[in-house]
Formats: sequence, structure tokens, C-alpha cells
Amino acid sequence: MLQRIKKLQTILKANNLDCLLLHELEQSKSAQIRYLCGYTGDNALLLVLPNDAILLTDFRYKAQIAKEVKGAKKVIAQQSLFTELGKFKQLTVKNLRIGYLEDFLPVKMLGFIKKQLPDALLVPTNGLVESIAIIKDAEEIASIERAVEIADVAFDRILQIIRPGISELDVAAELEYQMKMLGSLDPSFETIIASGFRAALPHGRASAKKIKAGEFVTLDFGATYDGYHSDITRTVVVGKADAKQKKIYNLVLKAQTAGCRKARAGLRGPDVDKHVRDIISKAGYGKQFGHGLGHGIGLLIHEGPRLSPLSNDLLQPNMVVTIEPGIYLEGWGGVRIEDDVVITKTGCRIMNKAEKRLIEL
Ligand code: ZN
Ligand code: ZN
Repeated sequence: MLQRIKKLQTILKANNLDCLLLHELEQSKSAQIRYLCGYTGDNALLLVLPNDAILLTDFRYKAQIAKEVKGAKKVIAQQSLFTELGKFKQLTVKNLRIGYLEDFLPVKMLGFIKKQLPDALLVPTNGLVESIAIIKDAEEIASIERAVEIADVAFDRILQIIRPGISELDVAAELEYQMKMLGSLDPSFETIIASGFRAALPHGRASAKKIKAGEFVTLDFGATYDGYHSDITRTVVVGKADAKQKKIYNLVLKAQTAGCRKARAGLRGPDVDKHVRDIISKAGYGKQFGHGLGHGIGLLIHEGPRLSPLSNDLLQPNMVVTIEPGIYLEGWGGVRIEDDVVITKTGCRIMNKAEKRLIEL
């Protein structure tokens, strides 16, 4: 943890910043304070200064910070967090360059900071902590791997209850229950269960729709372990697949497998995306694969690097990303297959063990 703060201090210096102000608020979570000093609670500010770090939270978390926080001084605020900022003499220096998290800080909070620190220069920053967190250490990879394993086992169990007549919501509830029983604190995100024509919606959250015989069911879900996320998608058929279902499924499987074979350190996100997209495009379904190939996972469910035509992220060893092509045909349904992989020098290691060949229930 201390090492992470030290790395960040070097980055701040290179970016000509005297301080970085990080926040973790109920309405805006970046998980960056957790990453830097281990604090898992809410309502906190972390000030990273050239030779110092200070965590500020409220009375409710007093015992928690004593136990969790490493590498930062701990301060309990007497009033609201932002109002407290003016009390720190280090921050009242004229023209002090204080960075804040532009992607996460609500505009209203920026107003509070300005009011408390009128002499400071507030500098919007992006991606500073992310540039460290994008490469995972062994402990982080082990946590993600456990989250993947929980999702895989829950998937195996859920197959027994998917049958004609059951609603998508019932499947989602059972899946989340199984993951919790296996040690996942929360689902990674709102579980997606999309059956029949709804499988054409890439983000079709579970609905009251009842699953029918012959339909595709896309399940996209994940577990969390020690704060780290997994993210898996499988598509199954209820009953026997028809010829078109087999054709589309096997095409997505071929593309997904090719993506797993292609991904390795030294390539850029768009290279891997293009490799997979070309397979789908050549088969005539390029327009029906309307999203990026994958994204990083970690303390957030969507983080860098992006495997997409729109990004230029360089893949490096120990990044953890998803590979998730899909084909969506409006009114008919769709297929997506998603694995979580660790990038290595020579390739990637697929964490998921759940069956990828077409499952006919
Ligand atoms: Zn997913
Ligand atoms: Zn995903």
C-alpha cells in the first residue's frame, strides 16, 4: 500500500501538483482511496502531499480506519468533510496546485472545495491513480481469480433451474444468492439475464419475462471478492438449438476464442479488437457487434485498458481484461461470450473455467 502512495507522489511531482485530493462519497465512488491506503468505507477524503498522506473521514468509521488504513495519517472530521479542508495549514499556501478527480467529483463538491481553499489552484486530473492500478499485483490477481471462480461455480449451479416458465428475475435472484453463498459480498453489477428477443439487448437487465423453450438466454454477471470484480457472460439455449442459433453461437465462440489467443503484452487494445471484429465482419455480422471487445476489471467493474477501436491502450503483463464479443439481431436474439483473462508477455491466461461450448438445457 505504502508503495502505491509513493508511486503516486512521484507521478504528482512529474505533473507539477502539490497535492492530490481524492474522495470516496456515497454518490461518487472511484475506489482509489481503497487502492491507495486500504480504507473500504464511505465518506472519506485522502490528501496525498509530497511527503505525506492524510485520510479524513467521520466518526462512524473511527474503528474501521484504525484497523484498515495503512500509510496515511488518520483524521476524524468534526463537521462535513469539505468544510474541514480549510483547517489543514498545508493546503492554505497561496497558489498551491491541488489536483482533484475530474471524472468522479460532483460539481457541487468542487464549489465546496473552492470556498474552503480560495487561494489554491484547483487542477482537474484524470488517470493518475489509474496508471498505477491498471497493472495488478499477485494479491490482486488472486482476488479477481477467486471472484471469477465464484461466478463460474454459480453458473454451473444455475443451469439446473433454467427451464421454460421461470422468469429472468427468478434466475437473477438465484444466481446472486448462489454467489453470495460462495463468498461474494455483492454482485459485480446489476445481473443481466436476457432471454429470447431480449437477448438482442446487450445490457438487458433481468425482467419479469418468462423464459420459453427454444430461446437463447444470455447471462452476464459477476462476483466481488475482497473488493475485486469478475465479469462473465455465457449464452445457453433452453432445449435444442436450431440451425441459425448454432451458426451464430459458433461464430461468436470462434471469434471469442481467437481473441483469447491473440491478446498479449505489446499489442494495443484496438489490435485485439480488430482481430476479433474481422472474423465477425467477414461472416457478415460486423454491424451486429456494436460494442468494444473488452475492458479492464479490478476494484471497478469497468476500468482500463479498453479493448476497443476507440482506445489506444497498450497491453502489459498483469493487466486483467475481459474478452466479450457478441452478435445481436433485433427481434431474434443474440449471443455474447465473455471471459476474464490475465495478460502475459507471450499471451494471456483465461481465468474462467465455465463451459464455453453451446449448452442445450
Ligand atoms: Zn459482462
Ligand atoms: Zn464486461
